[in-house]
Amino acid sequence: MLKGKTALVTGSTSGIGLGIAQALAAQGCNIVLNGFGDAADIEAERQALERLAGVSATYSGADMSKPAEIAAMIAEAQAHFGSLDILVNNAGIQHVAPIESFPPDAWDRIININLTAVFHGIQAALPGMREKGWGRIINTASVHGLVASVHKAAYVAAKHGVIGLTKVVALEAAGQGITCNAICPAWVLTPLVAKQIEARAQERGMTFDEAKVNLVQEKQPSKDFVTTEQIGQLVCFLCSDAATQITGAALNIDGGWLAQ
Ligand code: NAD
Repeated sequence: MLKGKTALVTGSTSGIGLGIAQALAAQGCNIVLNGFGDAADIEAERQALERLAGVSATYSGADMSKPAEIAAMIAEAQAHFGSLDILVNNAGIQHVAPIESFPPDAWDRIININLTAVFHGIQAALPGMREKGWGRIINTASVHGLVASVHKAAYVAAKHGVIGLTKVVALEAAGQGITCNAICPAWVLTPLVAKQIEARAQERGMTFDEAKVNLVQEKQPSKDFVTTEQIGQLVCFLCSDAATQITGAALNIDGGWLAQ
């Protein structure tokens, strides 16, 4: 479906981003991986993607908190593959603390990586999409882009910001073959959430498995985690011709969280 297109997925060395990269590669898309981690593990993932569907995959270690590195990563992708057709702004971090004790440097890091990097990525990628008359921008927001939970001030603020930015870009690119949407997952069992489960297990005297069930049942009526494969398929749909008229949307994939 996406043969010959190129997608850059930020924060794709782990969790949701890796699931999205795998799903896009399976549709024939060339991939630029990005994120941190063990160099040998990342290289193994890169090679696995190439084997999966005969696509070409590269890796950039650009730090999403550094605007110059974001711009350079996108320029390199365009130079290497000829164009960048799909940008998935997915890299993200979390810090959980009450507002009074929320560390200002954690606030800055979360706003920079979860929100400001999305702006810089879009600013660098959009002109090339306009030239080609085709593009897909997909921003990984969260249910926390639409509702709040306690102790997540920076994360909730950043994700609400991502949804606002998504709408502006959708309007500015409307009618040019380019769509911009946000996806809003609820709990997905990734390393980002595993840390929160560990903290809950400690606070409540539970095992990791007990805390896992306790966490997902608290807000997610389906009582089950969203999977990275399901999110990957949602992204592929948003890249398809069938989704041409979906733009500026915030699509929840949340087991019913936001229906309450
Ligand atoms: P994860 O920790 O598994 O992956 C995060 C990725 O971002 C990794 O590849 C990491 O290396 C990368 N990253 C972090 N800081 C970076 C930086 N400065 N520069 C470049 N890359 C960086 O987390 P995840 O759960 O897969 O989260 C991915 C996205 O999904 C985030 O935006 C997160 O907010 C969002 N999200 C997650 C959940 C969930 O339940 N896991 C739910 C909703 C939204």
